[in-house]
Amino acid sequence: MFLSLRKRYSDWIIKSAFERISPKRLLVQALKGDDVECSCCGGKFLAFMPFGTAKNKRPHCLCPQCGTLPRHRLMWLFLKERTQLLKKPMRLLHIAPETFYFNTFSKHPLVDYVAGDMFMPGYKYSPGTIDLDVTAIQFPDGSFDAVICSHVLEHVPDDVRGMRELCRVLKTGGFAIIQVPMLPGLERTDEDTSITDPLERERRFGQHDHFRIYGLDLKDRLESAGFLVEVVPFCDKFTKQEMFRYGLPAGEDVEAYYYCVKA
Ligand SMILES: [Zn+2]
Repeated sequence: MFLSLRKRYSDWIIKSAFERISPKRLLVQALKGDDVECSCCGGKFLAFMPFGTAKNKRPHCLCPQCGTLPRHRLMWLFLKERTQLLKKPMRLLHIAPETFYFNTFSKHPLVDYVAGDMFMPGYKYSPGTIDLDVTAIQFPDGSFDAVICSHVLEHVPDDVRGMRELCRVLKTGGFAIIQVPMLPGLERTDEDTSITDPLERERRFGQHDHFRIYGLDLKDRLESAGFLVEVVPFCDKFTKQEMFRYGLPAGEDVEAYYYCVKA
């Protein structure tokens, strides 16, 4: 009896120890500090981790705890400051959901959450995500109070059609946060949907599967799709020290927020 209890207790100790020393948990523990702070999960660390390919590794990027990148952390601050999301009941359509956002929105009592992505063979999607083509959304007009679509439209050949669809499914007065990669100072979007060579796409548009890199005419495109657009230079409100502490994006990632409202 006593031996059996002792055995069960030692098994429990070993199991708990293994659970505690998962690689991610070890990393989070090792990086604990107070030099940087994640605006999404609230974790405080010595540093954010590098992220990217071997050719294009970006320092000071990934939160070791929640996996967010600079643009995700900035969007979280923007949503909290500028919108009523999570403060009052809303039906939200989220295209190509990022993990932190999916986990937060799908559990939140004030969010009626629809997460959609264009399903591709070989990729895994969070349970509950629906197969959705942003250029032919399967919901009636005026279905949502809010839409989030970040870093999607650069992958879509007819991006304006996608923007029109996002506007169509919003209720009047609803808002959309639409983010795309932009080249600072570029006046007109550089695009060519006929390029199929991944290396040429990467050289010209920054990634092997992008059809374009956006310029300042993004506002005109969004307006042509039916939105009222407010360009918000949200990064400008932070000091350099705050940008570093919260690991917020430098220039090329988020030029400004294009806050879109359906009139
Ligand atoms: Zn985090």
